[in-house]
Amino acid sequence: MRPARKKINSGMILVILLGSLASALLVRIFISDNDKILELKNRTPVLGTFATYIVIAESESAGLILSSMDSLARYLDNELGVYGDGELSGLNMRGYALISELSSDLDYLLKSSLFISSITDSLFDPAMGALVNTWGFPSDPHLPDSADIISALSISGLDNVMVSGDTLSLSSGTILDFGAIAKGYTADRIYNLAREMGAGAALVEIGGEIRCGGDAETGRLWRLAVRNPRGDNIMEMIEIEDGAVATSGDYENYFFDGEQRYCHILDPRTGYPETGTASVTVICANAAFGDALATAVSVGGIDTAENLPDSLFNLIIVVTEDVNGEVTEWRRGGL
Ligand code: ADP
Ligand code: MG
Repeated sequence: MRPARKKINSGMILVILLGSLASALLVRIFISDNDKILELKNRTPVLGTFATYIVIAESESAGLILSSMDSLARYLDNELGVYGDGELSGLNMRGYALISELSSDLDYLLKSSLFISSITDSLFDPAMGALVNTWGFPSDPHLPDSADIISALSISGLDNVMVSGDTLSLSSGTILDFGAIAKGYTADRIYNLAREMGAGAALVEIGGEIRCGGDAETGRLWRLAVRNPRGDNIMEMIEIEDGAVATSGDYENYFFDGEQRYCHILDPRTGYPETGTASVTVICANAAFGDALATAVSVGGIDTAENLPDSLFNLIIVVTEDVNGEVTEWRRGGL
């Protein structure tokens, strides 16, 4: 990731993006007056949330690039969804797959998930679909019976994903769920496609996971706003030229039972939603890793953030909340 420049050049498009699931807000402040360069923007439902794409390209190619980004998003939405008729859902239903026949997308997600799991004491767990279902996220969130949580936990975790020769198999009832990495990965894929097709600059945001960048000539600097997890205001403005910003938090997908907040980020050690972390923002080179790391740090808190290898991120911001509701910001690294 290139370091952020502090000054914003004229001729740049400045984007303020509130990274939130349902309410990504894009405000265009200045547009290049070069007629040959177009900025196009699209917002569409993807992976159970919304995706926003911005592409800045030559006017002849900008439309094609944007529609190709959209097609790729639809393809990945289908293939990587836990349900439906795509590749991941087929693997979950059959309970096995030949590793040599996995798509490069699923292969990447599996390998990256294994890696992130290995450096986060298994707090990042892509084999927790049964537990996610037990809690009813996202459509019917509710407090389950503790016996159901114990039962779902017994078929969750990477111990239930076995490899023998060329065959990957799942324990009976185990469900792979890449919900904590697929949005970031899809953002990376769509961004890379735009740049390969000649976009001078592009930004892709999917449910709060952002990948953006631009070439030296187009010189884009993206200004991204990270939301305060306990208010409607902006907590932090981040300026980057090229890289990813991923945010996980307990404030987008949650319910209350009495005073207790239950969010959709689950702790594989207990089977219950994480508590004590209100939000985590990771700024790093690619959105797939940022997405997965933000989820893992949401579960493990500052301890997990402290133990991550420096090489994987530029900056991590953790907002913790104690039992009295007092909120504290902690950070590691810099831009
Ligand atoms: P968001 O969807 O708000 O960006 P995350 O990236 O943290 O949030 O992903 C949360 C989703 O990931 C959950 O809805 C669930 O499907 C899955 N998940 C929940 N807890 C974990 C975990 N500990 N490890 C991996 N995936 C998880
Ligand atoms: Mg995530």
